[in-house]
Amino acid sequence: MPDDVLKIAPDAVHITLPIEGMTCASCSARIERQLAKLDGIEAAAVNLATESADVHFDANQVSAEEIKTAIEKTGFTVPDQVIELKIDGMTCASCVGRVEKAVSKLDGVADVTVNLASETAHVTVDQARSAEVVRAIEKTGFGARIIENTESFGSQDEAKSAARLRQDLLVLALGMTFTLPLWFQMFWNYFVEEFAWDGIIQLALATVVQFGAGYRFYGPAWKSLRAGSGNMDLLVAMGTTAAWMLSTWRVFWPVEDVVGGEIDLYFEASATVVTLVLMGRFLESRAKRGTTGAIRELMKLRPENARVIAADGSEVEVPVSSVKKGDIVVIRPGERVPVDGEVISGSSAMDESLLTGESLPVHKEIDDTVTGGAINGEGMVQVKATRVGKESTLSGIIQLIQNAQASKAPVQKLVDKIASIFVPIVVVIAAATWAGWSLAGFGWEVGLINAVTVLVIACPCALGLATPTAIMVGTGVSARQGILIKDAEALEHAKKIDTVVFDKTGTLTKGQLQVVSTHPVNGDEAGLLALAASVQHGSEHPIARAILKAVDTPLVAVEDFKAHPGKGVEGQVDGQSILIGNRTLITEHGFTTDAFEDGAQALETKGNTVIWVADHTAGVLGYIAVGDVAKDTARAAVAQLQNLNIHTVMMTGDNRRTAKAMADKLGLSDVIAEVLPSGKAGEVERLQAEGRNVAMVGDGVNDAPALAQANVGIAMGTGTDVAMHAAGITLMRGAPELVASALDISRVTVLKIRQNLFWAFIYNVTALPLAAAGILTPAIAGAAMAMSSVSVVTNSLLLKRWKVKV
Ligand code: ADP
Ligand code: MG
Repeated sequence: MPDDVLKIAPDAVHITLPIEGMTCASCSARIERQLAKLDGIEAAAVNLATESADVHFDANQVSAEEIKTAIEKTGFTVPDQVIELKIDGMTCASCVGRVEKAVSKLDGVADVTVNLASETAHVTVDQARSAEVVRAIEKTGFGARIIENTESFGSQDEAKSAARLRQDLLVLALGMTFTLPLWFQMFWNYFVEEFAWDGIIQLALATVVQFGAGYRFYGPAWKSLRAGSGNMDLLVAMGTTAAWMLSTWRVFWPVEDVVGGEIDLYFEASATVVTLVLMGRFLESRAKRGTTGAIRELMKLRPENARVIAADGSEVEVPVSSVKKGDIVVIRPGERVPVDGEVISGSSAMDESLLTGESLPVHKEIDDTVTGGAINGEGMVQVKATRVGKESTLSGIIQLIQNAQASKAPVQKLVDKIASIFVPIVVVIAAATWAGWSLAGFGWEVGLINAVTVLVIACPCALGLATPTAIMVGTGVSARQGILIKDAEALEHAKKIDTVVFDKTGTLTKGQLQVVSTHPVNGDEAGLLALAASVQHGSEHPIARAILKAVDTPLVAVEDFKAHPGKGVEGQVDGQSILIGNRTLITEHGFTTDAFEDGAQALETKGNTVIWVADHTAGVLGYIAVGDVAKDTARAAVAQLQNLNIHTVMMTGDNRRTAKAMADKLGLSDVIAEVLPSGKAGEVERLQAEGRNVAMVGDGVNDAPALAQANVGIAMGTGTDVAMHAAGITLMRGAPELVASALDISRVTVLKIRQNLFWAFIYNVTALPLAAAGILTPAIAGAAMAMSSVSVVTNSLLLKRWKVKV
């Protein structure tokens, strides 16, 4: 065989490995050299920008694991990656445990969570081994494939699940049609007069149902049996086939009952169970689709195409995926915004309701940021793309919700464990039932039918759906109204919150500070402001912005600029060494503010922030008062929490008098003032040490440690990515009234989980003994089983009606 054929032989494998720790091109060259030394490497390209290695290799000579080791030998790491897999064929909670067990046994797997409701698995695995994960899952009898791109996957999945639903409906209709005559017989016999179709007719009807509509139970049942475990299909298949076989035997070899009269045929039982279980599944998958509605809606938000201005100035329509950072995008009236960007010309009102939950259109003009997914109003605007693809806000939101929905509540792990040992136990109970009734002298037929009932009723489906469906609906409905919840853990913690700490600026107040008054020692107001503005030019702080806004004369360049976080700034202007900041900063440098305190404190008591300006040689030059206004809904937001008996605290770096004035106005119970940014997390910790469950609400970068320290971090509004990462809950708009609602939806969702688990558990625990005791018939068991799953999912769907409280 010639060489070039060998190269494209099936053993040629291509992998992309992420690499951490590369800082320069020489690093990538080093790795490439190291890889080239290995036998069986056909091509290896290391990309510094994407921090990854593309390797083509011959799997007969070298393994992905060896490649990884070779890279790590050069001093870099190949980090674990979280891969998402779509799993086909999971029918009940016991399947979850089986998949998790099989995957977690593999080397290199750090974590695995399987979600029954979304039929997905999240696996944290060393990248070289993702193919093994797929194989391990397939060996347990399920289909598995890695989802490469979550977004494109969404629409594919959508079409597929719609098709599957249609097919399910057809199969259900088939089963129903052939079961109806048997139901008619049962009904007539019971209410009107003794009546039965001829045995052969019954056999024909039941056979179509059993092997026509019910064929789909056999494949998965067999697979799970071969994998050495059981699932719901196995229980249904065993139960109904036993009833069918017993009845078929009776048709050809009828016997007289001991009491006299013919022994009943059980065809209506087997057919009813098959049909009802199919009906339950159909209703369940329809409802399950409802639980992922929020994500599907978000995925539909992004338009397919964008109009980009080409190099020659003409407008060309291109697919959104090919829009690059920096491209100029034209958005016409009524169109959807394709990417995140900054308005560079035009103005318009945009409807961002599906992203933020804010129903009023938001006015956008030059320099304002727009978010992909919003609907443009009447105006036409040009936008410079700032974030595209995976980096975009919409992607971030979708990702966050998907993670939340895939996350597993702690209680669910226990439930899955119980469910995975359930099926074998049930089979044992069924066998015991059969033996028990037979030995007690009721005949083996009666025993068998009761055993069938046990098999049918025992499936722990409802148990498996209880938690994930509630989490999916809860996180979905809140996301639609502007509250993003990170995971199940955040839900659990949020439910227990008894103290809410608010950052002041930008959270309770608008954060758009304004200069209220200027008090120079020498009487030159404009001069003091201009000097302050020149120094503040280097600062991003809201106070700096306020001072800069108040000045329209040209600024002088600042040198040796230095920020003192939580205190102020300093710098050289025109040879003068200037300090600007709070009282602490000034006194720390040996100056005294005593002479000006009467005036300054009067301003502070009114809720203004006083900023001191001092010259290193000449001393205090004066002070400037800046004011912020409370958000319109801040007072109501605090009142909502107080009504829930939640202790409310304002935390700020601002001085005590200013903070107290604002806190009193808004009705907060407590104030923690004059905290340095670095001390905020410590203050939260101190509250926790008092035994409180603390939620911290903040927006800024310097809040991130406090957000992370709190039991639940709530990042607000135009929250920075940093804040979003540290937070368990993200509020999509700067509305403080969402805080109480966020705590509420968490509480309601957790409650729903408990309710679902309770009912599912009660159902299994009470129904099993009734079935074993022969009190239920197989048909009733089938109906009960279908109902319990459907009712759990429906109960979760009730959460969809939840609304933000205003
Ligand atoms: P917050 O808790 O409101 O986020 P910071 O920690 O940012 O407050 O700041 C605390 C205090 O430090 C401010 O109230 C102000 O007095 C002073 N300060 C911080 N940065 C500056 C600045 N750039 N110019 C003047 N004062 C500043
Ligand atoms: Mg702040």
